[in-house]
Amino acid sequence: MTFEELQKAFSLEEGTIEKLRIYAKLLKEWNEKINLTSIVEEEEVVEKHIYDSLLPSKVFKFTNQNLIDMGTGAGFPGLVLAICFPELHVTLLDATKKKFSFLEEVVKQTETKNVTFLCARAEDLRTFREHYDMVTARGFSALQNIIELGVPLLKVDGILLAYKGDKGMEELRESERALRLLRTRFSNAQKEELPGGAGMRINLFFKKQEKTMARYPRPWNQISKHSL
Ligand code: SAH
Repeated sequence: MTFEELQKAFSLEEGTIEKLRIYAKLLKEWNEKINLTSIVEEEEVVEKHIYDSLLPSKVFKFTNQNLIDMGTGAGFPGLVLAICFPELHVTLLDATKKKFSFLEEVVKQTETKNVTFLCARAEDLRTFREHYDMVTARGFSALQNIIELGVPLLKVDGILLAYKGDKGMEELRESERALRLLRTRFSNAQKEELPGGAGMRINLFFKKQEKTMARYPRPWNQISKHSL
């Protein structure tokens, strides 16, 4: 997919496309120094990272939500969403420090103002409990773990958006208990064939119903041994 096709698909402004071009260029340059992603060719970056990050905007309105992207890595989907929807307040969360200098450089060169960086483990974010309108996660963990780690960060009525692949509906069935314990309801699934035969994307939307019990999230060693 080219930047022109991307622009058409999401009706993006010229200035936004320019910023995304800078992002893709820096991704390629920095990837030679630090390992950011296995995908670096421009057309693939547009398709598998940028288009993919923006896909939920076809069915969901990003406005001025206070959003945290859990395990953002090289900024997907959080930084793409921040660039394309300047009214959003986006926190890019990752446990490892390594990729933050890259993210900072992209934010600087694209003059993106609506981004905050947070280097921490999601399960340790005690001060940010019940704080966000929206949590996103792509390529992060099994859905039960995304629910256990993400929902405590949401306000009541906040939205969890999990970017999942073709096993999305199976994962949803396996997450019934996690949803019950975290007082969260499944809202809807966006099922879309990715361009270029890249497979199926199933984006799952959830809504938090009630405040989270203090016992969640459990420490990571418990979560990793035994998902809810
Ligand atoms: N969202 C990106 C990166 C996925 S890789 C993408 O789709 O391309 C998963 C990322 O989650 C890694 O960068 C890893 O450092 C981070 N991560 C894993 N466990 C985490 C945790 N408990 N808290 C915060 N970040 C975590």
